[in-house]
Amino acid sequence: MKITRVTTQWVRIPLERPVGWSIKTLTHREHLLVRIQSDEGIEGVGFCLQDVSGGAAKAAMDELLVPMLVGEDPRDIAKIWDKLYFQTVRAGRRGNLLHALSAIDIALWDHQAKLSKMPLYKLLGASREEVPCYASGGYYYEGLEVFTKLQEEVEGYMDKGFNAVKMKVGRLANAQEAKRVKLVRDVIGPDVKLMIDANQSFLDVNACLDLCKRVEEYDITFFEEPLPMDFFEGYIRLKNQTSIPLATGEIGATRWEFQQFIKDRSLNYVQPDATQCGGVSEWMKIASLASTQGVSIAPHYHWDIHVQLGCVSREVSILEKFNGTNVKNFDLIMHNPMEVTSRGTLKPHEGDGLGIEWNENAIKKYLVDEKVHDIAVKV
Ligand SMILES: [Mg+2]
Repeated sequence: MKITRVTTQWVRIPLERPVGWSIKTLTHREHLLVRIQSDEGIEGVGFCLQDVSGGAAKAAMDELLVPMLVGEDPRDIAKIWDKLYFQTVRAGRRGNLLHALSAIDIALWDHQAKLSKMPLYKLLGASREEVPCYASGGYYYEGLEVFTKLQEEVEGYMDKGFNAVKMKVGRLANAQEAKRVKLVRDVIGPDVKLMIDANQSFLDVNACLDLCKRVEEYDITFFEEPLPMDFFEGYIRLKNQTSIPLATGEIGATRWEFQQFIKDRSLNYVQPDATQCGGVSEWMKIASLASTQGVSIAPHYHWDIHVQLGCVSREVSILEKFNGTNVKNFDLIMHNPMEVTSRGTLKPHEGDGLGIEWNENAIKKYLVDEKVHDIAVKV
């Protein structure tokens, strides 16, 4: 079996209204899609989250990675991963190139599961059929009243059936942020899980610790990205001085980066994103590492794939889920976006592979650039 065609698609999808976190405000999100077709007539589709750098990831894919797929059997996923990763280490290892590699790996697993005529989680060996999720939100909406809007938003999550909520912190003064956290705890009551996310905004451990002390009484399930991910020692210092469980890893790359956090036990949760950390193949290796130290996994974003992996790995304690399409507008390019169940969980699609039904008209509408590589011709 051979790969015959690879199509790369860069899409840019505007947000209904700008959303901001501690250090940044976005008006649109970009994604890279890669479609890998084989001479079996099957197409696997992979993707990665790019925020604003779809073009850079597309260049990495078109110029460096896709040419290495010539002559390859799409079933040889581990062989292809090693080839793409180790032959690009000078340019790669992290960032856009690893995102592009992740998308290719996801496309190959989607292809493999479709070839096997089963959903990905069944192919990988399922341990369960659904995974708990939380409503991710509590952003800073520009020009809108901070407290009123937050209260309305969180009440909406409770009406939808969520039993866990995550909110942003780290943009305002700590005293203001503590008031926001108290407001959300008051709205959701004592039995709903509450997480906070600073998006790496604290560079000063003591300032971060000050916020921890102010919100510890509100029963925080985890504090996500309190510090820059590369600030390993800061996490250890924080862990030793707060009772709030710590989480990080949404921008983490490969098993080697995650093992630092897992080995030193500074985190209670790691948050690998399969569309950025190296694909399904690398995500599963990171999950194995986490399981050896009793570290939980709370994967970042793209639940379309993480629900499949969470049904395999029991280490996944909770999935991120955005309500509506104002943050995860990727849902606009599929016909079957997932909805939270009445139990506050997500269930994988029943279709083969990832089970995503792509909305080709929407992809065309948001397409910035596309390249078709007829690689079988070059063999
Ligand atoms: Mg986050």
